[in-house]
Amino acid sequence: MNHANTKYIGRFAPSPTGPLHFGSLVAAVASYLDSRANGGAWLVRIEDVDTTRCKPHFSGEILATLHAFGLNWDGEVMVQSERAARYSTVMDQLATKQFTYACACSRKEIADSATAGSDGIEGPVYPGTCRARALPFKANAIRVRTTNDEIRFVDRVQGECVQRVETEIGDFILRRRDGLFAYQLAVVVDDADQGVTHVVRGADLLDSTARQIHLQHLLGFPTPQYLHIPVVTNDVGQKLSKQTLAPAIGAADARKLLRDALRDLRQPLPDTPFATTGEWLRAATLRWNVAAIPKCRTLAGSSGG
Ligand code: GLU
Repeated sequence: MNHANTKYIGRFAPSPTGPLHFGSLVAAVASYLDSRANGGAWLVRIEDVDTTRCKPHFSGEILATLHAFGLNWDGEVMVQSERAARYSTVMDQLATKQFTYACACSRKEIADSATAGSDGIEGPVYPGTCRARALPFKANAIRVRTTNDEIRFVDRVQGECVQRVETEIGDFILRRRDGLFAYQLAVVVDDADQGVTHVVRGADLLDSTARQIHLQHLLGFPTPQYLHIPVVTNDVGQKLSKQTLAPAIGAADARKLLRDALRDLRQPLPDTPFATTGEWLRAATLRWNVAAIPKCRTLAGSSGG
């Protein structure tokens, strides 16, 4: 399918670190319904850039589960592990413009050099130790230079967000010392290459968005519209994930789980009887209401924990 004339291109981008669980289903349903309600295309991308954490057999399982839930995507599935050459080219472009530099600091060194009170929103802020050292790129991590300019965006659910990346995060890694490309780089390149106009995903990634916008600016890529839904937690308040042992979901429970997903997103349930997942989702699309999605970062889910 050619999406060139589509005004809305959405995507769901699961990481195959485990089978699909209820938390990822809620994210998939939200991005699917938002795309379809806007007459858009819905793409799926397998985010297996971190090959140390991802297992190939989960990719096939996740796609089969999406299909069984009636969440049918458009076009080819993009697979990050097949895109190393593209990420390398982008890294070269950034290096040519001196937007990046090599860093030899260990985690421990960064933690030790971070002065008291310099903890950012995601751990110690990188203090820029290697910025001016001109270390060789080979066998070192590669970081992107950040600035203290305010990055602002209006999330469609969470509202206005502002971040100064240099103070709150620091120069962040785009390629790890072991050669693996970082999520922040891959997601920006892929969203641009797929022409994604609307990102709908869990609010655990809200704090990554400013980093992604910073990279989009450096690379001359457009910034999509963002919508971050609350992340579903289990009975003890943990995000559902492989680490918190969230159970895998299966087609046998599709009816219940799709209802639970809509309930958690505070969406009106379709009044049509549940015949097939496809029909039911079409009915849900007609009632999709972004204004009803709770404006919070986490919420206790109905299922799966
Ligand atoms: N791969 C990420 C995840 O599974 C989602 C990334 C994104 O939507 O930008 O949590």
